[in-house]
Amino acid sequence: MDVSEIADKVAAGDRRALARAITLVESGRADHRALALELANRLRETGRQALRIGLSGTPGVGKSTFIESFGLMLVGQGLRVAVLAVDPSSARSGGSILGDKTRMERLSREPLAFIRPSPSQTHLGGVARRTREAVGLCEAAGFDVVLIETVGVGQSETVAAELSDLFILLLAPAGGDELQGVKRGIMEMADIILVNKADGDLKPAALRTCADYAGALRLLRRRPQDPDGVPKALTVSAIQDVGLAKAWEEMRALAQWRRDNGHWDARRAQQSRHWFEDEVRQGLLAALTASPDIRAMMCKAGDAVANGDITPDSAAAKVLAKIAAPN
Ligand code: GDP
Repeated sequence: MDVSEIADKVAAGDRRALARAITLVESGRADHRALALELANRLRETGRQALRIGLSGTPGVGKSTFIESFGLMLVGQGLRVAVLAVDPSSARSGGSILGDKTRMERLSREPLAFIRPSPSQTHLGGVARRTREAVGLCEAAGFDVVLIETVGVGQSETVAAELSDLFILLLAPAGGDELQGVKRGIMEMADIILVNKADGDLKPAALRTCADYAGALRLLRRRPQDPDGVPKALTVSAIQDVGLAKAWEEMRALAQWRRDNGHWDARRAQQSRHWFEDEVRQGLLAALTASPDIRAMMCKAGDAVANGDITPDSAAAKVLAKIAAPN
């Protein structure tokens, strides 16, 4: 495989080369990993940045419908839009993106759009790395906007938030007046909350839900890197294409504010540091579990703990000391 050729094609915006490059970063093979790193290094030189938008929401809130309508609006403005998913397809209700062909069908036919199905059977750490590298490839390929979609369950939205410049939480109108069990931590990550399905019979409920969230957001501590009134809650209808232009306006304004005030670069720098540390941690864990000596030591110490011969903490301290200074 000729990495320099793929790099040139990706940098020229060739979507087939981009798809091949992403396949390369998804591969578990050691030789592919080396090529993937080389590719990323070459493409770093393009210095291009997209607006990375993380989008999270539980199954059924309308993520695919939103991405389709929102993506079509953006390509209509001449912007190039890439869509990536964080979750392994096994964790999704409807299979992978485009696994069922109805998802984002119109957007997928647009020459300015690129939609990447999520890979299956990768653990979350692997998914984070693959998505991160895929985001970098899309940026190098000259996409203006990269949408990073994730199902709002488990840890994946933290991954999406750590990968994005803006993090959007998509919600559906609540039946009652309760906030929909959205964890406080996720609310705190959100830059903009969009209450979808504000149309037809659901419109009054959507407006009420939006007001509830706007109230709840005001109680959260304001982040120093944000202007007044952020995070915001807005209503949209992905199906009827209502409120999407306004949502985009808000996203752009916030992104611009962060750029103007140095927070954009600071956030990316902090994210790079996070991913570097994460990668080292993952690598250490992989190296530990790959070592037969360490596995044997763990097994023996585990037996001793189970037998009550030693406390869990003392056993862990001994093992760690041994790993730090093997002789
Ligand atoms: P996802 O699981 O979050 O990707 O949700 P989907 O986009 O597949 O949408 C789930 C259901 O909600 C589908 O039946 C959609 O037609 C419906 N839906 C999505 N957006 C809207 C909307 O703006 N208004 C209404 N009324 N229904 C919507």
